[in-house]
Amino acid sequence: MAKALRAGWQVLKAGGSALDAVQASVVVMEDSPHFNAGHGAALTENAQHELDASIMDGASLAAGAVCTVRRIRNPVLAARAVLDSGQAVLLSGPAADDFAQSRGLAMVDPAYFTTQRRVDALRSLQARAATGAFVPASEAEKHGTVGAVARDMQGHLAAATSTGGFNNKPSGRVGDSPIIGAGTYAKDGVCAVSCTGQGEIFIRRVAAYDLAARISYAHQTLAAAADALVFDTLASHSIGAGLIALGASGEPVAPYNTLGMYRGWISTDGQLTVATHRALHAMGPA
Ligand code: ASP
Repeated sequence: MAKALRAGWQVLKAGGSALDAVQASVVVMEDSPHFNAGHGAALTENAQHELDASIMDGASLAAGAVCTVRRIRNPVLAARAVLDSGQAVLLSGPAADDFAQSRGLAMVDPAYFTTQRRVDALRSLQARAATGAFVPASEAEKHGTVGAVARDMQGHLAAATSTGGFNNKPSGRVGDSPIIGAGTYAKDGVCAVSCTGQGEIFIRRVAAYDLAARISYAHQTLAAAADALVFDTLASHSIGAGLIALGASGEPVAPYNTLGMYRGWISTDGQLTVATHRALHAMGPA
């Protein structure tokens, strides 16, 4: 987590864009086996990886996303290439992989994404389902989507999200993470947000955009809007939900209604904080 934060911070400190910063942070987490994105991603019911990612520039509202990709090593880079192309917002499946390849991005065999932990989790979920008994997936089995939000020296905001979805998900299922306005949204002067939790509910609630709308139209503060969204709107569906967001002036919030949510931030004066559960761990200068 700290490594991901520092990667984004390096970009911002050098005067780089919020867009490049969120991309840099998400790449680190996609490359890590500890998160449910890129290497270490969840498996579908057919034991395949189908990865979703998106990225949005709050300055221009330009956005790019890919869904159900299987060969692009870093789905967030494919999302960024879609944004840069300006020809589409969302590309899907093999065509999205082909597009990434045509842009010169690193491609991998799908086995690259697989870790023993996900294989074991899928096996255990399917074994439990086969008994006919409904046993809810544990927090660890369900979560691990990654996201980043940033504000740069020019005051521009950006957000990015990347995920393998959830273990044992139906083949072809697309979650909220690659849906602009559902799992990801950024608009300068309003907020940048990346969400995690059962994607179907985030899509139905247009959750990421709902946060922006509460701020823009209902004039709620970021903190009040984020709490209402997570603890009232999303929690009313009895799902675990969380988000990370920055307000117009860069103030961070990270509400969640689960036991924990891995999260962290670097303040404008360069102090790094990470947390998994309620307690915060101040780590000093980034
Ligand atoms: N939102 C992700 C999805 O539905 C999963 C998660 O964040 O846990 O694909």
